[in-house]
Amino acid sequence: MKKFELVSLPYAMDALEPVISRKTLEFHHGKHLATYVNNLNGLLEGSGLEEATLEEIVCKSTGGILNNAGQILNHELYFAQFTGKPTKQQPEGALAKAIVRDFGSFEAFKEEFHKKGATLFGSGWVWLSADQKGTLVITQESNAANPIQHGLTPLLTFDVWEHAYYLDYQNRRPDHLATLWQIVNWDVIEKRYGKIEN
Ligand code: MN
Repeated sequence: MKKFELVSLPYAMDALEPVISRKTLEFHHGKHLATYVNNLNGLLEGSGLEEATLEEIVCKSTGGILNNAGQILNHELYFAQFTGKPTKQQPEGALAKAIVRDFGSFEAFKEEFHKKGATLFGSGWVWLSADQKGTLVITQESNAANPIQHGLTPLLTFDVWEHAYYLDYQNRRPDHLATLWQIVNWDVIEKRYGKIEN
């Protein structure tokens, strides 16, 4: 059967310092994400979902399969959206226009995104997503949930599980979220938005 594999990072383990330390990245990718991948591969045997894509599994399954598949999808989107050498600090083009249209300004968008990440109770993810018309929305998702479960296209996400920041920031989740903007690769987010724009 098809086995899911641990995705490679598009940068070195120390590339996101000091925002995300090498130690945090080594645990987050090499331990936490790797465990979700191993768990899912074990759970899929005999499940009837052996040939399904990750997105299909996240939309169709329940229980342990959903939790592990959701965490794999979430982390793949999360790790791919960062860079140690950002070319810009905010988006351009169609995504920039949509942010102003739907949130008023880039600063207002960041404020709402930060607030929803900081106030999410327990473990989960804050997301910027787009609906089929390209309208932007910020949502809080608990645990392993992903906006594709609501028919949305995920664009940007901050992981607010403690394992994402505890080694570097301890309980200071808002401080961690505030620094993440420094390493967002807006080229990646623009490309994700470009795929659904019509
Ligand atoms: Mn995580």
